[in-house]
Amino acid sequence: RSSCQESHLLIVGLGLIGGSLAAALRRSGFKGHISACDPNASEIALGIDLGLIDHGGSQLAELLDDVSMVILAVPVLAMESVMTTLADSLHRASKNVVITDVGSTKATIRDCAVRAFGEMPPSVVLGHPIAGSEKSGVAASDPALYVNHKVILTPEPNVDAGALARVEALWGAAGADVLHMSVERHDQVLARTSHLPHLLAFSLVDTLARQDERLEIFRYAAGGFRDFTRIAGSDPVMWRDIFIANRDAVLSSLDDFEAGLTRLRQAVESGDSDALIATFDRASHARHYFD
Ligand code: NAD
Repeated sequence: RSSCQESHLLIVGLGLIGGSLAAALRRSGFKGHISACDPNASEIALGIDLGLIDHGGSQLAELLDDVSMVILAVPVLAMESVMTTLADSLHRASKNVVITDVGSTKATIRDCAVRAFGEMPPSVVLGHPIAGSEKSGVAASDPALYVNHKVILTPEPNVDAGALARVEALWGAAGADVLHMSVERHDQVLARTSHLPHLLAFSLVDTLARQDERLEIFRYAAGGFRDFTRIAGSDPVMWRDIFIANRDAVLSSLDDFEAGLTRLRQAVESGDSDALIATFDRASHARHYFD
């Protein structure tokens, strides 16, 4: 496992993902300073109480002195204002400062960086840990969240090799396996493996809940329903942002899903035993990937 040699990390957005990164680094023996910026004062206070951060506050521009790396862990649509503040407040003298993020979509965040800085700075390395849960807030921080999980980095062609190596070392210290991907591929892949399933879970639970305000029928649901719908308990703001930011890739994966659902509907309607078995066989076989 690599170690993280940063002197001072600033985490912007101290929730589940930012807090878990701080917890993982502390557990790895990280010796540097960790500070955090969050408009929610209780998250900062809890982060200090839990021993995850050394200090923090709500005003980003006031927290940038001596920082060596900034990690943006705010909801995706909050990245724009954070990038703008960074571009305005990080002085040329501090061009050694590496900026990275954990956002669940990548193209819109790259666009924010380009708008804020005028071009993609070589010291910006965007990323996304493929780990998390339906919980949110620093109270849910877990030092083991990233262990043996993948982190996708989406470096641009002009990336500074030293900056990339430092972000890789950060995630290595947290126990993660780092891989690289283009921004476009990231957004297409995640639309299919994460955004679409969340949309389906939100939709199914909402459809049933609207038919029965007192949620009586949930009493008759078994483990399958519970497993399938667990992710519908995820944070609404985080997911609103993801669906607005990754609209095109989500719509394309939704088109494919709708076509499959229509085929399955026809099979159910006509009692097409062969078509039902063939579909369930293929799905069941594919699901064994995870065994
Ligand atoms: P969270 O709600 O637990 O934490 C987000 C924090 O950001 C909150 O404390 C909020 O107060 C703070 N915040 C909002 N606007 C801010 C601003 N302008 N400046 C500073 N702080 C601000 O959410 P989370 O689950 O930790 O998600 C954070 C990011 O990580 C999101 O971009 C999300 O897409 C991404 N992500 C989440 C998961 C997951 O499973 N939860 C997994 C991978 C990536």
